[in-house]
Amino acid sequence: MTPSRRTALKVLAGGGVAAAAAAAPVALAREPKVAPPGAMGMLYDTTRCIGCKACVFACQQANDLEPERDAEGLHLAPVDLGARTKNVIKLYKDGARMSYMKAQCLHCVDPACASACMLHSLQKDPKTGVVGYDPSYCVGCRYCQMACPFGVPKFEFAKAVPKIVKCELCRHRVKAEAKQDAAGFTRYASGEGPACCEVCPREAVVYGTRDELIAEAARRIKENPGRYFEDRAYGVKEAGGTQVLYLSHLPFDKLGLPSLPDRGVPHVAYTIQEGLYKGFVAPVVLYGALAAAMWRNRRGSAPPEVQG
Ligand code: SF4
Ligand code: SF4
Ligand code: SF4
Repeated sequence: MTPSRRTALKVLAGGGVAAAAAAAPVALAREPKVAPPGAMGMLYDTTRCIGCKACVFACQQANDLEPERDAEGLHLAPVDLGARTKNVIKLYKDGARMSYMKAQCLHCVDPACASACMLHSLQKDPKTGVVGYDPSYCVGCRYCQMACPFGVPKFEFAKAVPKIVKCELCRHRVKAEAKQDAAGFTRYASGEGPACCEVCPREAVVYGTRDELIAEAARRIKENPGRYFEDRAYGVKEAGGTQVLYLSHLPFDKLGLPSLPDRGVPHVAYTIQEGLYKGFVAPVVLYGALAAAMWRNRRGSAPPEVQG
């Protein structure tokens, strides 16, 4: 956690509006981030996906998310990310061509959602780069939803104590150290990696370190000339890089993947924060009071450490 963010958090916790406004310009300026050496992620390849949606149901099961059901109690496949859906398979068309597309959190190298979250409920793990969520600090402001360039975080509107819902790369399942297979690819024992990758019958979505996945994408492109619309993976550079990468036979923007600059987009988050700091005193006071109340309720626990 950088001193500027720690300072901002502490002044917010104390409801120090003037101090928060003074700290804001410091928080607005910072260097782009790079992926940690052990950054984990996924590679999804549209040319291998058959749309079976095994990954969707495995994700719901692994994350204790109750699926939608029809009148007979049968599971309904979700059509988009939602409060019960961290992973969805969509079907896109480009003229006569079609493609499946797996949508979930991309675990950005420089996540705008985490930057927008003033109470640091969303944090990037310094070792794996997984963007995790701690609901105990969340006040339900949904600034993370506004900041995410991929429209990923969803909110449990129907619950009395709602939380944000998004893929956390099944971090609760990953317990053991990774092993390398004969090809040098990172493998986990059954049940100890992302459920979606484990059940995919086509290796359309695979798990590994970001470096491995970039190499795997390059291998597939080289061994299959002409198969992909672009001979590159989406996410290597977009938005400062993501840890979930895509190979596609359709243009990326036809799959709902936005064209983004190579730099990170936390400036969106900072624009939100700047608006709060400079334009709206009341929300800052509210945040300070809420944060102070939460920490009082959690007596003895220190404020969360974050990568600033
Ligand atoms: S895709 Fe959205 S929710 Fe996921 S890490 Fe990036 S900004 Fe956050
Ligand atoms: S990594 Fe886990 S939470 Fe994320 S999409 Fe896959 S199964 Fe769902
Ligand atoms: S399990 Fe694999 S092949 Fe089936 S829909 Fe998911 S990504 Fe596609």
